[in-house]
Amino acid sequence: MAIAVGFLLGAGNPSPANEALIKNLAIPAELILKALRALAPPLILVAVLHTFMTANIPGTAGRRLAVLLLTNTTVAIFIGLLVANLLRPGTWGRLSAPGGTGTGLPQEKFDPWGLIQDAIPKAILEPLVNNNVIQLIVIALSFGIVLRAIKSEMVTQGKNEYKPIENVISILFEAVIRILNWVISLVPLAVFGIVASTVAKEGFEPFISLGAFILAVLVALVLQACYYLSRVKFGSWVKPVNFLRGGSDAFVMAFSTSSSGATMPVTFEVLQTKIGLRESSAALGALVGANFNNDGTALYEAMSALFISQVLGQHLNIGQQLLVVLTSIFASVGAANIPNAGLVTMTLVFTSVGLPTQYIAVLVTVDWFLDRCRTAINVMGDMTVSALLDGKKDRG
Ligand code: ASP
Repeated sequence: MAIAVGFLLGAGNPSPANEALIKNLAIPAELILKALRALAPPLILVAVLHTFMTANIPGTAGRRLAVLLLTNTTVAIFIGLLVANLLRPGTWGRLSAPGGTGTGLPQEKFDPWGLIQDAIPKAILEPLVNNNVIQLIVIALSFGIVLRAIKSEMVTQGKNEYKPIENVISILFEAVIRILNWVISLVPLAVFGIVASTVAKEGFEPFISLGAFILAVLVALVLQACYYLSRVKFGSWVKPVNFLRGGSDAFVMAFSTSSSGATMPVTFEVLQTKIGLRESSAALGALVGANFNNDGTALYEAMSALFISQVLGQHLNIGQQLLVVLTSIFASVGAANIPNAGLVTMTLVFTSVGLPTQYIAVLVTVDWFLDRCRTAINVMGDMTVSALLDGKKDRG
């Protein structure tokens, strides 16, 4: 339908009369992007605070879980960056920003020392206003760690004064997610407008580039799946074939719903009944992991940043790519386990390296498919962590 409208408006060569109409078609996407940019900082802040306040993880298993989650996410991001650097999907075709603005990357030099100096905000609310992701991480981690420590002290003293603040954080988290759901329900409208205006303005050429991007993301996700299977083979008693067969219900559910949250009960169930893990390992990986372990999302966000920088012909240097790694880790923690959530926190990854966020509107057009694929990998990541926590000895 969108392609037909774009075609009617003059694929690649619109008449001047149609140009105003084409510009208006891009408006829904611009508004949705604005909303996503505005929601990203509070979402990351409350998601990190919520994780610190509510995650109920026993001592040593907790530390193991944290190490496993961090290594898997970092590997995912490196795989994503490696594939994007090798295949260079952004150079396969021409792609311009919707609305025609912001086609150039600000020529800022990467300055790690400047970044460190800038990491402390002048005011606590500053990172929320300026979308400064490094400052946001500093604030979220500081408050998260302190609130967690206060809660632990109170729990050992038998006090429960921490409860109201824990409830406030949970309610705020829920509220941000609900608003996010409103915005996300409008995404099909944005996709329609963007596809129609892109076809009208530039014909079908931009889709070659997007096709290359889809291919590159799929290659990277498959590599990540192979990494999981090798971890399962060497780090647990579970046979990779049984892992894949037993987990198939969860993978299919993740693919069909695009939501690792909605898939969580199935993940938990198959880990115990079909794969045969202990309940405690299944719970840690599936329940805790589903909330803030999103390797597929991290991989995708890092690849998107690199893809757009390639489209702009301004390749990110090593320092900038490391910044992408760092921000993608946090962006994936903040990405709620619902459809399209990765698009929200992606705005912060883009801003951290000075990429124009208008291009995210172009990625929205392929997100309905790539979201399904990365959600399946998110779920597979949680299941891998469960298998590794279960260790090398089966239940017997
Ligand atoms: N849909 C993903 C999930 O539920 C999150 C994302 O958009 O990346 O895991």
